[in-house]
Amino acid sequence: MDEKIETAIKRLQTASDMSLKIYKQPLIITTSGGKDSSVCVELAQMAKIPFEVQHNHTTADAPETVYFVRSEFQRLELGGGVKCTINYPYYKGERTSMWDLIPKRVSPPTRLFRYCCEVLKEGGGAGRFIATGIRWEESNKRKNRATYEVASKERIMLNNDNDEKRMLFETCQMKAKRVVNPIIDWTEEDVWNFLHDRKVSVNPLYCEQSRVGCIGCPMAGKAREKQFERWPKYKDMYMRAFAKMLEVRKERGLKTTWNTAEEVYDWWMEKKITPGQMNFDELVDEQEE
Ligand code: SF4
Repeated sequence: MDEKIETAIKRLQTASDMSLKIYKQPLIITTSGGKDSSVCVELAQMAKIPFEVQHNHTTADAPETVYFVRSEFQRLELGGGVKCTINYPYYKGERTSMWDLIPKRVSPPTRLFRYCCEVLKEGGGAGRFIATGIRWEESNKRKNRATYEVASKERIMLNNDNDEKRMLFETCQMKAKRVVNPIIDWTEEDVWNFLHDRKVSVNPLYCEQSRVGCIGCPMAGKAREKQFERWPKYKDMYMRAFAKMLEVRKERGLKTTWNTAEEVYDWWMEKKITPGQMNFDELVDEQEE
C-alpha cells in the first residue's frame, strides 16, 4: 500500500509541475464529497504541492453531502489557506438545477440518457489541469473513459510511462482541460485503509450507505427507493419536475404516453413498464440541441 501512496503522490507532483508550467496555475483537486475525493485532497496535502479544490454543486446531492463539503472547505481554507470554490450549474447561460433541467430536456434522466451529469457534475476546470478520484475498480465504463481521448500529438505523457500508465492522464479538447486520476488503480480496500490510517474525515453518509451521490440518480437503480424514503422532499421535487415536464411536452406537441407525474415516476423507477410507454431512444431523438 505504501508503494501505491508514493506512486499517487508522484502522479500529483508531476501533474502539479505540468499545471504550473502549462497553465501557470495550481492543480485543481475536484471533489464530489465522496471518499475517493477525500483521498485525493489528503494526498495533495501529503505531496506538498500548491493546489485548489473545486466542487460542482449538483443540486441533487443529499444535505449531508452539502454540509460535509462546506465544512471541509472551511477546514482547508482556514487551516491550510487552500482556495476552495463551489461551482453552481448553468444551462444555456442560466443558473439551473436538476428540477429545472428535467422540464427543459423534456425527459427524466435515465441510465442511457444522463444529460444531467454533463450540466450538473462536469462543469468547472475549463482551461485548467484537474485531478479526480476516478478509479478503475469503480466500473468498466469508467475504465474505458479513462483512456486518452485525443490524437497523439495532444497527449500528455510522463517520462517512462508504459501504456497502462498513460491512461492515468486525459485531455478534454473542448474545454482545454487536462486530467490526472492519481488513484485510478486503487481498490475500495486501499481507499478505506488509507482513510482509516490517515484519520481522514469522510462524508457521514458512509455510515449508512456504501455510495454517495445524487439522490435519485438513475445509476443507483433500486437503491433509489431507499433514498426517497430517507429524503422524501427530493421525491416531491422530482414529482413537481415531472409534472412541469409533462406540461412542456404538451406545449411542444411531443408524443407522450404518460398522463400524470406518478406515471412518469413509476416508469422512471422501473416499477411498471406498460406497452406503449415512452422508450429511451425516443427521448434521446427528440432533444433539440
Ligand atoms: S443524477 Fe446521476 S447521472 Fe445525473 S448528475 Fe447526478 S450522478 Fe450524474
